[in-house]
Amino acid sequence: MSGKKHLIYNPEKECMSRDEMHAWQSAKLAETVRREYENVPMYRARMDAKGVKPEDIRTVEDLKYLPFMEKTDLRDYYPFDLLASPRSEIVRIHGSSGTTGKPIVSGYTRNDVDVWSEMMARTLTAAGCTKDDVVQVAYGFGLFTGGFGAYQGADKIGAMVVPMSSGNTQRQIMMMQDLGATMLCCTPSYATYLGETIREMGLAPGKDIKLKAGCFGAEPWSEAMRVRIEELLGIDACDIYGLTELGGPGVAFNCLEKDGMHINEDHVIAEIIDPATGEQLPYGEKGELVFTSITKTGMPMLRYRTHDICSLTDKPCACGRSTIRMSRITGRTDDMLIIRGVNVFPSQIETVLVKTQGVAPHYMLVVDRVNNSDTLEVQVEMTEEMFSDTVGQIENVRRYITEQIKSVVGISAKVTLNAPKSMPRSEGKAKRIIDNRKL
Ligand code: ADP
Ligand code: ZN
Repeated sequence: MSGKKHLIYNPEKECMSRDEMHAWQSAKLAETVRREYENVPMYRARMDAKGVKPEDIRTVEDLKYLPFMEKTDLRDYYPFDLLASPRSEIVRIHGSSGTTGKPIVSGYTRNDVDVWSEMMARTLTAAGCTKDDVVQVAYGFGLFTGGFGAYQGADKIGAMVVPMSSGNTQRQIMMMQDLGATMLCCTPSYATYLGETIREMGLAPGKDIKLKAGCFGAEPWSEAMRVRIEELLGIDACDIYGLTELGGPGVAFNCLEKDGMHINEDHVIAEIIDPATGEQLPYGEKGELVFTSITKTGMPMLRYRTHDICSLTDKPCACGRSTIRMSRITGRTDDMLIIRGVNVFPSQIETVLVKTQGVAPHYMLVVDRVNNSDTLEVQVEMTEEMFSDTVGQIENVRRYITEQIKSVVGISAKVTLNAPKSMPRSEGKAKRIIDNRKL
């Protein structure tokens, strides 16, 4: 036990008995399945193919009869064919990068925005936030859910929100000092960068900087990184997890015990499955995390496979919440990389390379972290013809690939063109990624 004082935003929901939770989840699940079956032809067809009717789903235990949903579904039914509510009820769109050039998008009804705000209000409260706090939001605002999520949660609490968005470090630190920010929301890598810059500037946490806690997520990080951020900034660093498909950040969050993330179970049901067989695994075992949204009306996801690997526990927590917790994300079942908070699939880059004249489809993605910022280098082989071309022409191709990656994937990469046949050939599954980041 940490001996910390625990604040709980909605004790009625966050501390309800397991029996009450089971009854609530069962009722909401049945309701959502009915809505989905009636309004989303793709999911109805999938249920029909499995011989499952909405009335078969009565309790949480029946979840296992439902078909899965995947990120590819969001691509195939882009942008609106998974909506379970009329288009006129949608008040917001958010998105993140998909497996190809198109982003995946999610539609929110007013209800969904409210549900999300509630989840984020709980998240921030668990990190110690009250209406007396000054919350600096250094997550990006835009299609990405980070900025808006943190803003909405802090706004619901009634705290003073400073919506800085990401980047512009000097200005972040100036505002942090001037306004006396007490809470910080951003990615863990940016928190480290802010912390190091603050130290380099000779500013003292606790004196010049008033931060007491932060909610950091949207990318994988380690216990060691938490310790570093806590030392640099003199704060409690809490982990927060979410994904656009489920509404955004706030699906699960650390309380100040920082021993796993409490899942907002009255809004989402979590399962761990064996990624190979799809079978449910018991608490404590590591596998793929699967979520079902049970209170969303715009675009509810049923048995959505996150491809994130972790485990669940229902062991009691010293904070008093009764919700189950998920462990840190320890990996992924697919090859998705998270680079500077952006989801990157090697297939997106491959698509660019395959379409480019003069390069062969032999490539390697080298990811690293320099000064707390992720870097991506794309190494690709030139064809013999290209290799014998002028230096200027080769430079044009390099620039073209760089621009294409920026526009398709949304991040800047360093592109290196290698001589023909200089890159390793693999037998069997090609190794395309070298990730040198030490989290
Ligand atoms: P977000 O707004 O949270 O970045 P995205 O939909 O863009 O949402 O990305 C979601 C993915 O980001 C998750 O499936 C997971 O792989 C990763 N992610 C989000 N939060 C965390 C976290 N706290 N720890 C590890 N990975 C995370
Ligand atoms: Zn707790």
